[in-house]
Amino acid sequence: MDLTEKIISLCKRRGFVFQSSEIYSGLGGIYDFGPLGVELKNNIKKVWWEEMTRKHENIIGLDSAILMNSKVWEASGHLSAGFAEELKECKSCHKRFKLDELQNQTLKCPECKGELTKARKFNLMMKTSIGPVEDKAAITYLRAETCQGIYVNFLNILNSMRLKIPFGVAQIGKAFRNEITPKNFIFKTREFEQMEMQWFTEPETADEWFEYWKNERINWYLNLGIKKENLKTKEVPEKERAHYAKRQVDIEYKFPFGWQEIEGIHNRGDWDLSNHSKFSGQDLSYYDDESKNKYFPYIIETSVGVERSFLAFLCDSYQEIKGGRTKTTKAAKDVEILLKLDKRLVPIKAAILPLVRNKPELVKKAKEVYQMLKPYFTCQYDELGSIGRRYRRQDEIATIASITIDFQTLDDSTVTLRNRDTMEQIRVEISKLKEVISGYVF
Ligand code: ATP
Repeated sequence: MDLTEKIISLCKRRGFVFQSSEIYSGLGGIYDFGPLGVELKNNIKKVWWEEMTRKHENIIGLDSAILMNSKVWEASGHLSAGFAEELKECKSCHKRFKLDELQNQTLKCPECKGELTKARKFNLMMKTSIGPVEDKAAITYLRAETCQGIYVNFLNILNSMRLKIPFGVAQIGKAFRNEITPKNFIFKTREFEQMEMQWFTEPETADEWFEYWKNERINWYLNLGIKKENLKTKEVPEKERAHYAKRQVDIEYKFPFGWQEIEGIHNRGDWDLSNHSKFSGQDLSYYDDESKNKYFPYIIETSVGVERSFLAFLCDSYQEIKGGRTKTTKAAKDVEILLKLDKRLVPIKAAILPLVRNKPELVKKAKEVYQMLKPYFTCQYDELGSIGRRYRRQDEIATIASITIDFQTLDDSTVTLRNRDTMEQIRVEISKLKEVISGYVF
């Protein structure tokens, strides 16, 4: 098994990620996030949001709708050739193929050997219709990127918040792309979430801000424990850039399937605001009171997929320890898995484990401890299997603190607290647990 397969298996086994509609054979390129997955996803989003809105000056948030007037997508260029893939279609089985998938077989369908059409552009926007009549006027699209909701609210935000340039707008939300070849588990999917920040600046300072945001974003990953050697940037040449980008740097992560983009930093110039002004007839330029200049601000965008960073965090923190961490004879032939996620991202902060499950006093006490800690930390109660096995199960999902309730607990109200990283075990009074765990996880 390679690392991707191991991660997929861990995700399914431990409730991080499931295939969507699995009992109906799934749906291509769509995934559900299980009980641990939703915690990890929420933690990634929380850390990003706090970083982008609270730790920087002049960045505010927005939550715009997924559905927008279809004119938005005309203006943004997404309905034209800029957001399309060139494909050939098989005349008999109707499967579509990207040109690079057909390198040596341009004439015949790789699946059924049928005849292929000439290459045509297929748009990646997902279509839907609004209201009871499915005529052309009712057609709209599921957004392909979240940022358009920010641009079309530019005036609303400016006027309601009395902002001065430079300022930023952060948003987290779902985006949809009819990817032709979704691949690599949750790396490229058809439904995903983006965390985007749009920084509105004077054109003259756009280059400086670009550098600033690029560095800030790289540091975000490093600060969350991603190894330096697994991260790099790629300057994207003009012919490969998105249709709106004046400059584009991809932050790439070394996935098990190769170096791939996790985040894009784009200088979108005045493409968006000037086009929306043209298409809507509303003036989205900015008037600077001091310099008396009127201009379309340039936009520096930072855009990352929640699922892609989720996968990068999992790959980076996954460790296999041959012979086991505890080096007990029983474990000598085993491989133990340790997920060394940053404490802020960890889905379950504390596990509560009665030493044995057939002693009602221990179980009762353990449940009391669980109820006591649950309002403050994500907790898991587990009484199945030997204590060593339960520690291993917690290591596999990155749990920071494992608390064992044993016979001594009944005498002196102390428990054993095991630290994920050091495996050190200390005795802690139940009344001090909240404080001690807070020290570990915050
Ligand atoms: P790619 O070329 O890898 O499809 P892109 O260059 O089209 O990505 P952008 O439009 O710059 O991507 O989107 C910004 C970010 O959104 C990407 O860096 C990625 O993290 C995320 N993203 C884009 N498309 C997908 C997808 N199909 N599935 C999951 N995440 C995606």
